Amino acid sequence: MSTTDLMTLSAGETADLVRDKGWPRFHTHQILRWLYQHRVTDVEAMTDLSKAVRMQLSAETRISALPPVETLTSEDGTQKFIFHLEDGKAVESVLIPNTSSRENDRLTLCLSTQVGCTLDCAFCLTGRMGLLRNLKAHEIVGQVLAVQRGLAPGLRLTNLVLMGMGEPLANADAVEEAVRRLTNQPWGVGLSPRRITLSTAGLTSRLTRVAKMGVNLAVSLNATTNEQRDRLMPAVNKAYPLQALMKACRAFPLKPHRRMTFEYVLLRDENDSAQDAARLVKLIRGMRCKINLIPFNEFPGSPFRRPADETVLRFQAIVTKNGVDAYIRKSKGRDILGACGQLGTLSESLPLIPVPQRCSTA
Ligand code: SF4
Repeated sequence: MSTTDLMTLSAGETADLVRDKGWPRFHTHQILRWLYQHRVTDVEAMTDLSKAVRMQLSAETRISALPPVETLTSEDGTQKFIFHLEDGKAVESVLIPNTSSRENDRLTLCLSTQVGCTLDCAFCLTGRMGLLRNLKAHEIVGQVLAVQRGLAPGLRLTNLVLMGMGEPLANADAVEEAVRRLTNQPWGVGLSPRRITLSTAGLTSRLTRVAKMGVNLAVSLNATTNEQRDRLMPAVNKAYPLQALMKACRAFPLKPHRRMTFEYVLLRDENDSAQDAARLVKLIRGMRCKINLIPFNEFPGSPFRRPADETVLRFQAIVTKNGVDAYIRKSKGRDILGACGQLGTLSESLPLIPVPQRCSTA
């Protein structure tokens, strides 16, 4: 008899299972808490259920886990986890310890939402894979549970960024369900939505889904004209040109005390000039936002180069002089291809050379 994977069930479906078995209703929250708060992988560990219930549950269900098959550790402390899914495909997550003295205890996990990506951003290694498939909700949450299981006692993941492999809003239903499980307080992982950031390449019509989830919005902008964005992010800009994207961003219902993030990957001689910086300022004028500047992380075969440090600083100075906070993201995990834009199956076969890019941790 095939067994049901408890991780694939939503809270409502778990309640249905409990009801169908004729068990008391409170068993639903008990089971969910064991899965998401205690992160057990064996029904026998659910010790507040009776032996009879556990036996029946063991016989008819299972709990899938996502043990990392490979972990690479960067010299800066960043860790990249490669997970094999049940169908043999692989995804990657990146654990980024915080180095700022302000937030010493911050531990951010950058999650993947698709195997590969439908979009074809010219600067991104994942985009080269094409889309192999969407991740299911439990495979997104599974990355969090697996990494949390492996942390030293007392350490907790504090922030999640949906910025790994894939475009989260191209897999919005699964992402929404994953966020429900990650943020639910009574039985879920219990993270505040404020601690979760979803980064989109600009699927404009789906920004309302982000507002509904209550998580922070980051938009991967990278260009200040349509011509430039057509070159760098052709698929998404064809569907949602820059003006439409900016209009939707301006209409986004930001919660009080929150601001939107625009990510801007700086590519040498492509989008890093003083004119680009001035156009960027104009595009976002009057918005409650900050800019993350991400000097490009080169990967073998990439057509772009990283700008010189002084070019990056000049760009930042122009933006900040105009009253917008702009932060230069320190690339983490460059030596393990764990930095922004470097995630992809190629990483298994590539030499570990110092290369610079899509996860940012602000
Ligand atoms: S940058 Fe993001 S949206 Fe673009 S190809 Fe890479 S993963 Fe996909």
